[in-house]
Amino acid sequence: MNIETLKRAPAGCVNTPLEYMPRLTRELGGGRLYIKRDDLTGLALGGNKARKLDYIVQYALDNGYTALMTFGGVQTNHGRLTAAAAIRYGLKPILVLKGARPDYLSGNLLLDRLMGCDLRFVDDTAVESLPEAEREEAKRRFLEECAGKIIAEYEARGEKVLSVPVGGQTVYGSAGYIQAVPELMAQLEAQDVRPRYLVVGYGSTGTFAGLWAGAKYYHAPFEVVGIPIEPDYRPREETAAFINQLSGTFGLGFTCRAEDLRLETGPAEAPYGGTGYNQPDPVTQEHIALLARTEAVFLDPCYTGKAFYGFTDLVRRGVLEGDAVFLHTGGAPGLWTKEHLDAMQALLWSGGAEDRACVMKLGVP
Ligand SMILES: *Cc1c(COP(=O)(O)O)cnc(C)c1O
Repeated sequence: MNIETLKRAPAGCVNTPLEYMPRLTRELGGGRLYIKRDDLTGLALGGNKARKLDYIVQYALDNGYTALMTFGGVQTNHGRLTAAAAIRYGLKPILVLKGARPDYLSGNLLLDRLMGCDLRFVDDTAVESLPEAEREEAKRRFLEECAGKIIAEYEARGEKVLSVPVGGQTVYGSAGYIQAVPELMAQLEAQDVRPRYLVVGYGSTGTFAGLWAGAKYYHAPFEVVGIPIEPDYRPREETAAFINQLSGTFGLGFTCRAEDLRLETGPAEAPYGGTGYNQPDPVTQEHIALLARTEAVFLDPCYTGKAFYGFTDLVRRGVLEGDAVFLHTGGAPGLWTKEHLDAMQALLWSGGAEDRACVMKLGVP
């Protein structure tokens, strides 16, 4: 398959803006810092999964699928975008969410509900009663069983369900990020910028892998740097193997070794990935506030706040020297999830002078 002629079903907008960040650059005092706005991909409030879905939806249409089912945490951004892409192409949206059904509807889940998704909560909290060594396997098996049941249910009604893995982590999905590279290179050329680095969050890893493969194939001038967004991240070896699969599928003509991949995890006492997947933490919150205060751009607490903490820390410490681009992958609806709202009260709304929210009260005699 030729990557340059591979068909896509546009799910969102490409050619997202590449913006210079003058105030952040001044504050950090290193090279010139840019942001590539893939939070503005347009589909259902945007995000990086739109580029992946362009190719995943095309695959679904080419192969006669009538429903898209995908997986994720309760607040999955990928789920929101997959549901939106499905709706726009007349496919049925099914989200299989790992966790108990929350009592309070918030964040992405509110948007999923508004779109009328078929929401299935896979509540495996009962595994806690099993010995620790058996828990992961029991969870995996239960999830598979649930997915099988849902597919059977739909098939009995004459539907054909495409099961899209967590994060849209497939070779078709990553095609979207291979093809984001020539787009970015053209923008850099038009703005006469030659950055040495492109920094991106590393989650289910398809975005990083696609960009890495694209940078190699199109001879990009920058190095792709991945910031794991949780302490327990996918090993480099697996990502290298996936990149080789991309190279093989699309005839990119290179091989990648694990040691070719650059991941930056940060200092041991304050890792960029924080304390756990989508767990609120004050360092991430402060970095979300930093970009909002300097450039009026909103990050999210699960992915981009963490990746941006890594980006700014590497610039501050001089690890990344020269001009650099940060890829904004979206996720802002996560700011309005109940857990994150609760956690942000302490930093931003404690009632102290640092709130800068002064009450001017009319006194009536
Ligand atoms: C999914 C996601 C990522 C991570 O992308 P992967 O391709 O899964 O590594 C980063 N940021 C946001 C907002 C996301 O939703």
